[in-house]
Amino acid sequence: MTQSITVLIPTFNEELTVPKLYSRLKKMSQTATNYNFEFLFVNDGSHDNTLTIIKKLAEKDGRVGYINLSRNFGKEIAMIAGIDRVESDALIIIDADLQDPPELIADMLRLWEQGYDDIYARRTDRQGESWLKRITASVFYRLLQRSTEIPIQRDAGDFRLLDRRCIDALKQLREHERYTKGLFSWIGYNKHEITYIREPRIAGKTKWNYFKLVNLAIDGIVSFTTTPLRFSTGIGMIVSLFAFMYILYLVIRTMLFGSDLAGYPSIMAAILFLGGVQLISLGIIGEYVGRIFNETKKRPLYFIDKYHKPKVKK
Ligand code: UDP
Ligand code: MG
Repeated sequence: MTQSITVLIPTFNEELTVPKLYSRLKKMSQTATNYNFEFLFVNDGSHDNTLTIIKKLAEKDGRVGYINLSRNFGKEIAMIAGIDRVESDALIIIDADLQDPPELIADMLRLWEQGYDDIYARRTDRQGESWLKRITASVFYRLLQRSTEIPIQRDAGDFRLLDRRCIDALKQLREHERYTKGLFSWIGYNKHEITYIREPRIAGKTKWNYFKLVNLAIDGIVSFTTTPLRFSTGIGMIVSLFAFMYILYLVIRTMLFGSDLAGYPSIMAAILFLGGVQLISLGIIGEYVGRIFNETKKRPLYFIDKYHKPKVKK
């Protein structure tokens, strides 16, 4: 029996890259003839011609399907919208901008046949990315790894092959603040790494900016571990300890030498410092309360405008 493979492509304003990606994917599928491929595009509320282009591809090639989301939900949600509808034996997630070379899929399939469930591609070189982005990414991964016991795959993106078992697992994780890289780690199963050189995107612009990246980093940490809550407890304890020693010193000094009214600088220092610590702690708690608020609304993760199923023989 031929195995069926879905290639899932989240797209947002990718009119320049989709045709090129499609021809590379087509070429790839011609070399891996012993599989039935389908290409599922998720159009994440693009406001250019992405959807029209995808529709044309779907008319020409029955293996192309698409999900048109009702608006832009972000890549994380676009991915789960696709994952929810995959019926194949395995799923491959790939970016539309050809930063992830489709030629790697052959290697992924080979490892999948060997019994691995999650074959992820780790980039060894981030070409076309600024040093600032590299450093912030590196600090972030280290922070995240320190704060949790689940191994997080460094520098691994969403480009990966997932076995049916992983798909079924991911479908069950319905949180809104999705940090998908963390979720891949969290579900476990038999992982295998392959490395590749990440190329610059072929056309169009990245949808990421620093504001979005900082948000994703906060989401990543807060949705994944409660360690920051403990962090504020830790600071609180240290500060209280120093405060207690200082109070002892003040009491003894007053008993021995009497009191003078000086001390304005030390009082200001203490007030400002404690104020800062309290605001940080409140902020951290706020991050978690905000997430509880969002999750308790129990809204669906996304809405679909149109689903065109790939017509592929199973
Ligand atoms: N993307 C998406 N929704 C968004 C932003 C991005 O579906 O709101 C898709 C985008 O079309 C691309 C992939 O996610 O296929 C990665 O986006 P991008 O190349 O902008 O990110 P980067 O490679 O710079 O991390
Ligand atoms: Mg990209």
